Amino acid sequence: MPLYESLRPLPELRVLVTAGASGIGACIARAFHEAGSRVHVCDIDRAALDRLVTETPGITGSMADVSVAADVDLVFDDVRGCLGGLDVLINNAGIAGPTGPIESFDASGWERTVSVNLNSQFYFARRAVPLLKESTADPVLIAMSSVAGRLGYAFRTPYASTKWAIVGLTKSLAMELGPQGIRVNAILPGVVEGERMDGVIASRAAALGLGVEQMREEYLRKISLRRMVSASDVAAMALFLCSPAARNLSGQAISVDGNLEYL
Ligand code: NAD
Repeated sequence: MPLYESLRPLPELRVLVTAGASGIGACIARAFHEAGSRVHVCDIDRAALDRLVTETPGITGSMADVSVAADVDLVFDDVRGCLGGLDVLINNAGIAGPTGPIESFDASGWERTVSVNLNSQFYFARRAVPLLKESTADPVLIAMSSVAGRLGYAFRTPYASTKWAIVGLTKSLAMELGPQGIRVNAILPGVVEGERMDGVIASRAAALGLGVEQMREEYLRKISLRRMVSASDVAAMALFLCSPAARNLSGQAISVDGNLEYL
């Protein structure tokens, strides 16, 4: 096989993407589908889920709140039914959480962020690992962290705390599962263009008393390449991590961020 062909994911991988109905998750789901994988997504948003499975026949979906263990169990019933097993788990779900000084937060904002961003990683990993152990296709677990899992992020403490925790989970699971041939890596996207980042910039501008455009320029100034990344850049990294070329990559926290220097 020519070396460059080893950059493609294996055909017919069975892939589960959490929170895959829109945003980065949907971009990843479509990318794997186009690469010949069998893709199942779950999401809390019924309308977005219906849109994705209608627009992309072949992708299947389940309604679920990823922070609820019983919902996750039902997703795995669907995974068994639709895919018959699992080769790749992409633990993508994550919410921005509240923005502001820590003393302004009530417990519910903190707890919701931890539930969606971190507890979900545990609920999905513990159900996926027995299936990944049965896989004969170089199984992979990918956890979606963030540049906020590499740098401190003032006024976004719940988010940053969960994203650093995901890196700890990734590195520990890579050690635990490596002997069984399962690779575990985290992707750390930076400033990803799109609706979510527009919202983050607007909230931060409001919290700091700045204009939205001024805030946007401040974000770009922090990036060495002076541009945001796209969801496709993140999806490309996920595809690469599931390709034979990445067969010796595990336990890594990989930034896709144009070299974001500080937050
Ligand atoms: P998004 O806000 O666009 O949401 C994607 C999907 O998550 C939506 O379809 C939504 O319905 C679903 N979702 C939200 N809460 C859910 C829940 N409790 N259960 C099930 N589904 C739920 O998110 P995104 O920007 O695509 O981000 C995806 C991941 O990438 C997250 O983990 C995020 O922290 C990370 N990330 C994003 C950026 C960025 O700039 N967008 C940067 C760094 C890291």
